[in-house]
Amino acid sequence: MKELIFATHNQNKVEEVKAVFKEYNIKSLADVDYHTEIDETAKTFEGNALLKAKHIYAVFKIPVFADDSGLEVAALDGAPGIYSARYAGAEKNHKKNNAKLLDALAQTTNRKAQFKTAIAYVDANTEICFEGIVRGEIATALSGTGGFGYDPLFIPEGYSKTFGALPRAIKLKLSHRSRAITALFDYLKSLT
Ligand code: IMP
Repeated sequence: MKELIFATHNQNKVEEVKAVFKEYNIKSLADVDYHTEIDETAKTFEGNALLKAKHIYAVFKIPVFADDSGLEVAALDGAPGIYSARYAGAEKNHKKNNAKLLDALAQTTNRKAQFKTAIAYVDANTEICFEGIVRGEIATALSGTGGFGYDPLFIPEGYSKTFGALPRAIKLKLSHRSRAITALFDYLKSLT
């Protein structure tokens, strides 16, 4: 069974990927006893994902993938983008981030937005990135208690409810993260 490290401290993400890709032995950073934060100093999702994957590959020499995601809002020139987690401040508070986003869009009718994920994969011979995008728009008020982050404000294209209000299975199927991860595993399968 191919061993892979998912370079994230977010155990929920690891469990989600493990549940879908059972043919791989996927380890989290906790599984390999790595507890240090990796600074995300790049200016793009792709740059940050690659930086994390390369860093962990250098430490463990085991094939590794890492992700970086965020929300891009058209009327805000792509903000909050790579700063999505700390849009309203360093404490990374989802409630405050959503309130700030609603404020920022109060005067605009263009509410188009997209979630984007970059996944970087690194092994001895490879450094490659995959992208996943889900397009949609920002609601005028919060709704739903599912998901996390901007989910109570994000209505995916083709739906009338937010990710926070839609069933979890729909978000898992449509999400930027699922799309990027599927692209990675399609690539890994194509190698075998
Ligand atoms: P991460 O890189 O996946 O940790 O995402 C960074 C930030 O982007 C999160 O803290 C959220 O604010 C936002 N974000 C990323 N993915 C999602 C999502 O699926 N739903 C809601 N917010 C998200």
